[in-house]
Amino acid sequence: MFENLSERLGGILDKLTRRGALTEADVDTALREVRRALLEADVALDVVREFVEGVRKEAVGVAVIKSVTPGQLVVKIVHDQLVRTLGQEESGGVDLNAVPPVAIMMVGLQGSGKTTTTAKIAKRLTERLKKRVLMASLDVRRPAAMEQLAVLGRDVEVDTLPIVAGQQPVQIAKRAMEAARLGNYDVVLLDTAGRITLDEELMQEAADVRSAANPHEVLLVADALTGQDAVNLARSFNERVGITGIVLTRVDGDGRGGAALSMRAVTGKPIKLLGVGERMDALEDFSPGRLADRILGMGDIVALVEKAAQTIDAEKAARAAEKMRKGQFDLQDMRDQLDQMSRMGGMSGLMGMLPGMAKIKNQISQANLDEKVLKRQVAIIDSMTPKERRNPDLLKASRKRRIAAGSGSKPEDINRLLKMHRGMADMMKMMGGAKRGPLAGLASA
Ligand code: GDP
Repeated sequence: MFENLSERLGGILDKLTRRGALTEADVDTALREVRRALLEADVALDVVREFVEGVRKEAVGVAVIKSVTPGQLVVKIVHDQLVRTLGQEESGGVDLNAVPPVAIMMVGLQGSGKTTTTAKIAKRLTERLKKRVLMASLDVRRPAAMEQLAVLGRDVEVDTLPIVAGQQPVQIAKRAMEAARLGNYDVVLLDTAGRITLDEELMQEAADVRSAANPHEVLLVADALTGQDAVNLARSFNERVGITGIVLTRVDGDGRGGAALSMRAVTGKPIKLLGVGERMDALEDFSPGRLADRILGMGDIVALVEKAAQTIDAEKAARAAEKMRKGQFDLQDMRDQLDQMSRMGGMSGLMGMLPGMAKIKNQISQANLDEKVLKRQVAIIDSMTPKERRNPDLLKASRKRRIAAGSGSKPEDINRLLKMHRGMADMMKMMGGAKRGPLAGLASA
């Protein structure tokens, strides 16, 4: 889902990132765009307003740290504000911290994925936490719904409460709790009836079941593709029934992604789990940081800058730049650069932190520029004599064989490395070498 929002914000913030200094007008332009992007992603107006104000408050007057551009700072602020809006805490999934049998009540509209999610949670609690789980369907209006839960129960090997015709939801809930006590179950999952729309009867029924079963968790199951309606839904359920958390389903779909932001902000209740497909194991723990990363789609630029500052030896870099400028980039220089890259987590690690790079990251790793390969290349150069490093032309077949044996590689590996070196050296000569970082020229190698 979140792609739209991610692309929009990515585009805006990219523009900002390229600027050296950020004026107040820049901040305003950026925030206008952020606002528009969020509204288009179906985030509720109130939530957008609050979000943008939060960013503005943080951004204005912020000290610009050396080696981080103001634009990058704004990216970080928007990211942090997203995390705050989504709920700072990492959810530990469903809370079972109560005297067993712990009741968990599932509420939501029909078709939201309530029954599927109930079975997914049952499976997870059984398999991961070794809990004894009992599921009960309280949907007395749709016999098919009860049967559906029974079928899913067999599928995930979790017991379901036997269906007794004619019983009302509150009675079924009480019977489920009683059966759980007698049968020594740890957890009871109550799948309540859904409706097509929000109505008074549905709310009252859910409230009555809540009073009868005294559940430890009341989870609102909501379709992530619902958009604006999600806000009303969450607000009503929270006011009338009282919810303890939210499960967003169809996060694998292609909606506009605003629901997550809105529901959390409006209810103040945490998003606990994400449904990411129809399969019984398609359930993920919710993590605000990860979701914020996904919404921004651009990784953590500030982390990149910090990491870079730690690992790059400024003096060495200056010396290398000077040599590059003169067209004297030798294998020793290449070794230093490769070493720096591998310390920064390899090419794919670096790429993951750069905006817009997620897509080409796969190609990079296919090109084998990962950490392991970098280390091997460093090892090859380490097996050369200082003279060979300064003058790669010395490397004829017999020397290559010796180096291959010394570094545990094949002569082809050495040829590949030399070719890469030539590519880098040429590229650097072409670009004048000034202020080039460890990535310079690699693309052409
Ligand atoms: P209920 O009426 O709320 O109980 O909804 P159901 O559990 O019957 O789900 C309705 C449909 O949505 C079923 O076809 C499910 O397989 C599907 N579904 C549920 N959760 C997800 C999800 O996270 N992703 C996708 N793609 N489909 C889901």
